[in-house]
Amino acid sequence: MSVWIEVDLCSGCKRCQKACPYGAIEMIDGKAHILDRCTSCGACIELCREKAIQTDTKPKEIPDFSDRQGVWVFAEQRDGKLSRVSLELLGKAQELAGVLNQDVSAVLLGYQVAKLSKRLIGYGADNVYLAEHKALKDYRTIAYTKVIHELVEKQNPNILLMGATHIGRDLAPRLSRRVGVGLTADCTELVIDPEEGILLQTRPAFGGNVMATIASRYSRPQMATVRPGVMEVKQKRGNKGNTIKHKVSITEKEIAAKILEKVREKKKSVSLNDAGIIVAGGRGVGSKEGMKALFSLAQVMGGEVAGTRIIVEEGWIPVERQVGQTGQTVRPEIYVACGISGAIQHRAGMLGSRYIIAINKDKSAPIFDVADWGIVGDLHEVVPEFDRAIRSSKGK
Ligand SMILES: Cc1cc2nc3c(=O)[nH]c(=O)nc-3n(C[C@H](O)[C@H](O)[C@H](O)COP(=O)(O)OP(=O)(O)OC[C@H]3O[C@@H](n4cnc5c(N)ncnc54)[C@H](O)[C@@H]3O)c2cc1C
Repeated sequence: MSVWIEVDLCSGCKRCQKACPYGAIEMIDGKAHILDRCTSCGACIELCREKAIQTDTKPKEIPDFSDRQGVWVFAEQRDGKLSRVSLELLGKAQELAGVLNQDVSAVLLGYQVAKLSKRLIGYGADNVYLAEHKALKDYRTIAYTKVIHELVEKQNPNILLMGATHIGRDLAPRLSRRVGVGLTADCTELVIDPEEGILLQTRPAFGGNVMATIASRYSRPQMATVRPGVMEVKQKRGNKGNTIKHKVSITEKEIAAKILEKVREKKKSVSLNDAGIIVAGGRGVGSKEGMKALFSLAQVMGGEVAGTRIIVEEGWIPVERQVGQTGQTVRPEIYVACGISGAIQHRAGMLGSRYIIAINKDKSAPIFDVADWGIVGDLHEVVPEFDRAIRSSKGK
């Protein structure tokens, strides 16, 4: 065992026992004893005021990463159209790079996509690593992994961010394994630790019951995927950037997968991410029938309908309209919350809204803490009144 107790020094305070994540410390006759299940994690050592806990395990050294520079964003495109989340990530990357005093770079792969570089620069990229090849026209895991891996090996970035999209969720784990680094998936918050200068990556864990903050101390680049809609798009007008071409050498044989046909799912898509106005319902709406008034209001306001998890579970709206920690994150200009209490899990998905209007009959409902305008009243009266007023102002 490489952790032991100097029993004479132990005061029996039990701080070590409480701190041990493995239940590997037992109190016997008022003194701490280490059990066989101890993993030498060291969680108890610093806590012991009496210095009674000893170890011969040397702390793992953090390598010198001073040559790892730059905050990278994978610029996801399909058919020459950039995904919005890539622009959102460039906004975040500007902030992180500002703290670190490093550059922001976008990694753009595809075929005949060079024209997108200008847009990426306009949204904050100082450099665009451009890899163009026929084989990269459509996303294929092996091809994209190979090219980004080459770039990472050559340029040594500090941070690499991707959208938690279908492509990002496929590419990021493959790439992180290839590079040999960790990956935090589905982050909702990214900040730089002011003391250590490392990336603190926050994401919901245990079904959303806790928010876990994860740091990669021992490897670079620090990789994370981020949910669409969470970060803010920030244009950087007048930004001057460089486009750096990367020579791609890849064969179809290496890629081992062919795209035979592209099929678009025909379901009627709900684009909450792009909605400028959202009328959202909660349990207070009372029934599926009650949602009709919200759909009518959304229609006259030119917006979309969304709601809380409760009303998804009730079957009043489909799951793609759920807003919150386990639903979508939205940033409309106006969010009208009708009969929503404002639970933390719901707020997590709508706090980025520019203006929040809350209608609730309970004046102490937490939604009012985050609302710009609050109406205390019965939504069954207020919503139709809103609807009528807007229609008459529009002469409808
Ligand atoms: C792990 C986890 C993840 C979760 N993820 C999500 C998530 O992604 N999204 C989400 O929304 N929730 C999520 N939840 C659930 C969340 O905790 C809340 O239970 C939920 O948001 C509450 O929904 P609500 O506001 O519709 O219902 P309630 O909390 O029941 O609130 C109903 C409100 O309606 C008001 N009301 C009632 N009648 C009227 C009326 N006639 N007129 C006006 N007001 C009225 C009431 O005063 C009340 O404030 C999650 C929970 C957990 C544990």
